[in-house]
Amino acid sequence: MRQSYDVIIVGAGIIGASCAAECAASGLSVLVLDKGPIGGGVTGTCMGHIVILDDSEAQFALTRYSQRLWNELATKLPEQAEYVRCGTIWVAADQEEMQEVHRKYKSYTENGLEAEILDNKALLKAEPHLAADLAGGLLVKQDSVIYPPAAAYYLLKQSHKNGAVVRSASEVKAILPEGAVGFSCGTIITGSVVINACGCQAPEFSKMAPIKKRKGHLAITERRDGFLNHQIIELGYLKSAHAAAGDSVAFNIQPRKTGQMLVGSSRQNDSDDPSVQHHILSKMIKRAFKYMPDLRDVQVTRTWTGFRPATDDKLPLIGPDGDSGKIWIAAGHEGLGITCALGTAKLLCDMIMNRPSEIDTKPYCPSRFAKGNTEDV
Ligand SMILES: Cc1cc2nc3c(=O)[nH]c(=O)nc-3n(C[C@H](O)[C@H](O)[C@H](O)COP(=O)(O)OP(=O)(O)OC[C@H]3O[C@@H](n4cnc5c(N)ncnc54)[C@H](O)[C@@H]3O)c2cc1C
Repeated sequence: MRQSYDVIIVGAGIIGASCAAECAASGLSVLVLDKGPIGGGVTGTCMGHIVILDDSEAQFALTRYSQRLWNELATKLPEQAEYVRCGTIWVAADQEEMQEVHRKYKSYTENGLEAEILDNKALLKAEPHLAADLAGGLLVKQDSVIYPPAAAYYLLKQSHKNGAVVRSASEVKAILPEGAVGFSCGTIITGSVVINACGCQAPEFSKMAPIKKRKGHLAITERRDGFLNHQIIELGYLKSAHAAAGDSVAFNIQPRKTGQMLVGSSRQNDSDDPSVQHHILSKMIKRAFKYMPDLRDVQVTRTWTGFRPATDDKLPLIGPDGDSGKIWIAAGHEGLGITCALGTAKLLCDMIMNRPSEIDTKPYCPSRFAKGNTEDV
């Protein structure tokens, strides 16, 4: 095996895979290393909703940019990636939440997105199994869903076609400041640059990366073709996603191409325990029954958990790790890593290759967390 590369990527989740595809397509020689299987980290345990969010301008810019890139890639994705452009319905329980529907509608449509306000009748027509007393919702048409580990596999296959070498079961012990990686056997492989795409484990190599694990539970149901047409999320999800402490649940359901439904979601900030916790699961499922009572007749076939790689300012770290220009980081995408993967890869590759970027990279710059800058966060 060749022992020197333009780019060594540590981590073959959706972020590492996207970076590999972009760097290899840009003519760089690439080595990807993962201690486990491809997409075997949180990429293999998540929901795969590609969704535009507008909590901040920077979040909107990256989710929108990246979603556009997914939609452009859609026709090339293999069947196994289960890409469906189903759209999202943000559901409002009452008139107070309808105000947020109107705010979101204005913000999205002013920025060129296709959205539609649904009153109670239109909502029930779009999703007949929703509770009859909901006030309405906002349909965002560009959003889609995907099966993330298959998407990661596809992206790595594309990178391989462009010359990248991909090695699973290869645990990196150290990322060295000169732009190299070391293994426990003593082998060192050098790169012009190394990208840390280790998700929740990124802080093991980048001490300044303030990434915390945020636990989530998911449940998948039996197949019920035609039961659900869109990804549906209660507007209260945004409050849950914002909470920096404690446990929260919100109604979030996704139609899979298989006819199954993926039910979420929960957020726990202080749990390191990967086991399914029945009190959280039960709270999450009861919340789903409140919004979609007919789900009581649908069997859940499997439940599991995963950890989102979260930062305090709800933005990922994309850029140089330190001043050497040798070490780069792409991690900390919390619940938006699938959505933001392609955009992240473009931005990082632009920076590495000194190319102009389509959106401003500054808000995601890791140096915002460097000592002395943290008061701005
Ligand atoms: C319940 C839940 C639901 C979610 N739903 C969505 C959603 O609907 N939409 C969305 O956009 N996002 C969602 N997310 C978030 C999304 O899953 C993550 O943001 C994304 O998968 C992060 O990808 P990653 O590549 O950074 O991390 P990972 O997928 O964890 O990849 C990191 C890789 O690094 C490898 N690694 C670590 N250490 C080493 C080492 N020393 N040597 C070699 N390899 C190493 C790991 O093995 C792993 O494969 C959800 C997350 C959860 C938990």
